[in-house]
Amino acid sequence: MFDGRGLAWARPADADFQMSECRSLNKAAQVNITRMRLLIVEDDPDFGPALSDALRAKGHQPSWARSTAQAQAMLHGEVFDVLLLDLGLPDEDGFAYLSRLRQAGYSEPVIILTARDAVEDRVQGLDAGADDYLIKPFSIDELTARLRAVQRRRQGRRQALLVHGALVLDPASMRVSQDGQPVELSRREFALLQALLARSGQVLSRAELEETLYGWGQDVESNAIEVHIHHLRRKLGTELIRTVRGVGYLIERPA
Ligand code: CA
Repeated sequence: MFDGRGLAWARPADADFQMSECRSLNKAAQVNITRMRLLIVEDDPDFGPALSDALRAKGHQPSWARSTAQAQAMLHGEVFDVLLLDLGLPDEDGFAYLSRLRQAGYSEPVIILTARDAVEDRVQGLDAGADDYLIKPFSIDELTARLRAVQRRRQGRRQALLVHGALVLDPASMRVSQDGQPVELSRREFALLQALLARSGQVLSRAELEETLYGWGQDVESNAIEVHIHHLRRKLGTELIRTVRGVGYLIERPA
């Protein structure tokens, strides 16, 4: 069983694994079942690297974050196919982090990996938005089988476009179009629009949007959100995003 202890994981022969492929966002829609970009969020200094090595040996591309703050920073810089989330983390409980991610519109699969085996923990994890829950120690073959399963399910829900009138946002390909014409957005503009569309009808505060874009506890220029909103309005028209003075921003539910 895989518990990361006492493991003599030799570095796999393909340690210089080719990282260059599958990076393009446009390729995100072409899910490669056999090779996945994985973000491991795990604070254990032995388990994290051991799991990374084991997954790399299985042909995947793992990255390791030691805290939710580090994970958040990595999620803003890269696209991952599946997030592997520990629950006991130094800066924030894994359940709380997962709830925040889902509320912010993060839609990629998440598998919780934890030693907490109580039924209520598993229920809480799945309710918080986890796709699967695996109890440590586990077999690496079981984990990779579950990764394949969440990928298959993800392909099935890839059509979940966010549509608002003539505006269409495709989270899978990270494309936006309006009246059938592609709209070029920066990564942060895209994330902002996605968060607002995913919760249309609700006002999102500037603080919530900053969390979506920059991660928690990060210093953000005080007018950063206003600047992105301004750019979005320039590209998509001034009617779409409403300012609710003193509260935040809102995209109305489509009629
Ligand atoms: Ca831990």
